[in-house]
Amino acid sequence: LLCPLLHGSRKEEKTLAIIKPDGVSSHYTNKIKAVILESGFAIVREKILQLDEGNATYFYSEHSGKSFFPRLITYMTSGPVCLMVLEKVNAVSDWRTLIGPTDARKAKVSHPTSIRAMCGVDLERNCVHGSDSRESAAREIAFFFGDINTGKGDRKHDEL
Ligand code: GDP
Ligand code: MG
Repeated sequence: LLCPLLHGSRKEEKTLAIIKPDGVSSHYTNKIKAVILESGFAIVREKILQLDEGNATYFYSEHSGKSFFPRLITYMTSGPVCLMVLEKVNAVSDWRTLIGPTDARKAKVSHPTSIRAMCGVDLERNCVHGSDSRESAAREIAFFFGDINTGKGDRKHDEL
């Protein structure tokens, strides 16, 4: 018998993961993917892109007024990124937990087994992104992959 409440609380979710330029250039892509799969996520979409100033600025528009914004855009456009749509029950919050705190230097102390602790460098170069809510996940996935069920509106950007 299906219990609607239980069923509802165990709904599959999608979230956006990005291996940032430092993660790709330091050859962490395969290691991070292995951790993703071992942690029970399915990788349902994947592509390598070189972000340009326009799409990096749009993607991080919530931070556009902040002092670190120009550096963030330089960092995010410094090399290819690996974009992945991850799927799992509770994917959004479980992926945020797995990547750890924003500051990789602090993560090495407080969350040593997190991906940012293992692969990141500091507050900026923290090697991975994770959507911070279901709403952000839907928006971010649509931005990079269009409607992933129909394939419509997939922005190819500069797919490599
Ligand atoms: P996240 O959701 O954990 O990725 O963190 P935020 O949304 O607050 O910030 C977005 C990204 O900007 C982070 O992942 C870092 O790469 C970078 N960032 C955040 N805060 C700072 C900061 O104070 N200085 C610098 N240089 N980069 C930052
Ligand atoms: Mg964020």
